[in-house]
Amino acid sequence: MLAEIKGLNEECGVFAIWGHEKAAEMTYYGLHALQHRGQEGAGIVTTDGEKLNVHKGVGLINDVFSEGEVSRLTGHAAVGHVRYATQGGGGFENVQPLVFRSQTNSMALAHNGNLVNAHQLKSQLEAQGSILQTTSDTEVIAHLIKRSGNVPMEDAISSALGMIKGAYAFSILTEDQLFIGLDPRGLRPLSIGRLGDAYVVASETCAFDLIGATYEREVYPGELIIIDEDGFRTRQFTSPMERTLCSMEYVYFSRPDSDLNETNVHASRKTMGKQLATESPVEADVVTGVPDSSISAAIGFSEATGIPYELGLIKNRYVGRTFIQPSQELREQGVKMKLSAVRGIVDGKRVVMVDDSIVRGTTSRRIVRLLKEAGATEVHVRIASPPIQNPCYYGIDTSTKGELIAANHSLEDMREIIGADSLSFLSTEGLEASIVADRDRRQHGVCQACFTGNYPTEIYPDTVIPAYKE
Ligand code: SF4
Repeated sequence: MLAEIKGLNEECGVFAIWGHEKAAEMTYYGLHALQHRGQEGAGIVTTDGEKLNVHKGVGLINDVFSEGEVSRLTGHAAVGHVRYATQGGGGFENVQPLVFRSQTNSMALAHNGNLVNAHQLKSQLEAQGSILQTTSDTEVIAHLIKRSGNVPMEDAISSALGMIKGAYAFSILTEDQLFIGLDPRGLRPLSIGRLGDAYVVASETCAFDLIGATYEREVYPGELIIIDEDGFRTRQFTSPMERTLCSMEYVYFSRPDSDLNETNVHASRKTMGKQLATESPVEADVVTGVPDSSISAAIGFSEATGIPYELGLIKNRYVGRTFIQPSQELREQGVKMKLSAVRGIVDGKRVVMVDDSIVRGTTSRRIVRLLKEAGATEVHVRIASPPIQNPCYYGIDTSTKGELIAANHSLEDMREIIGADSLSFLSTEGLEASIVADRDRRQHGVCQACFTGNYPTEIYPDTVIPAYKE
């Protein structure tokens, strides 16, 4: 997993808790478990029943929070967020949770995903006199909620959700209520757990494990959950639709120890590797995975073929992030900085190099070269997902179509560009079967739009592709 140089990035991670005397501390730890989902900004907002307390900033959680700052965030409930800077850039004003204060009540909003009709809604809001202070989609949701006037908050949120389209998993904290919601297709992951009597919510279940919480269930597509002093209640703001959870969460983004929609990420990656071996076998001496996210698939490939799995590539763990710059030249150097081929393992061997995905192809070319420079006689590249040929509109930075190698080259051209002796991708059917198996697709279906171009929602001419902005 070489997110910074591969050009494939998650947008955000969301955490929330209600009914815990150390709400800020639990959120701080929960966000640590979600740090891989966003490193550009972090924030926590708590409520003590009367007012919202906020601390947030640009950078990693440890850069933003000291012990004193966490302990100053008093209260029994909290929402937290880690952010990757896509729409609107990485400035402080876009770091979440976004807080909106008014005379009647205040709210803090933390959101993961991307609205496909944000541009239209922003134009409507501005035409009606709203002044947008940030460039993020999250503020659009807040303005739509506020526009509903003097109605109960849950009705205002429900009505706002009826207007927005796209992918979103959010939590909203007011002085006395916590709201949790998921888009009608359930494109982004969101789970509910319990920590004693407290309720916890997180983008990934690895956050529950870190704080000792137990998993309860998924937030359902189109569900709005309300938690307050009267307890936990739920309503549907849309009629149920077939779930299309992002398959790239399984392929690449989520941590292997997380369960998404009740399927373990490591286990599904292993199945992808096994399926890939069945679809595209090859004669070789060793199988190696590109660390970290491809190791599970490589183990699966090895188990299915009987070719031994070896650590042919090692990640250099302590390379500073400041070395990674977006220019092509430095990206290429970045691979060398971040990965080493193990000569003692690959020298004189025919190597199967399993990777989770190919975006621009630059990283794959460098890794193939690293293996050959270390003595590999053949390098057979096996990709545990289908070719990415389309941009994502739902909160994942997959680059534009022009930058995607698979959108612009044939399989043979790609093989030649990356310098491999052979190249194969997992089929879309194989990917879906690895995640969904024989489970009910209405509950457990997946989005594969970046592979197939079949987007599960409307896409408008002015829908913006999330793309990294400095
Ligand atoms: S288009 Fe791809 S990256 Fe985006 S939500 Fe669908 S599967 Fe995930």
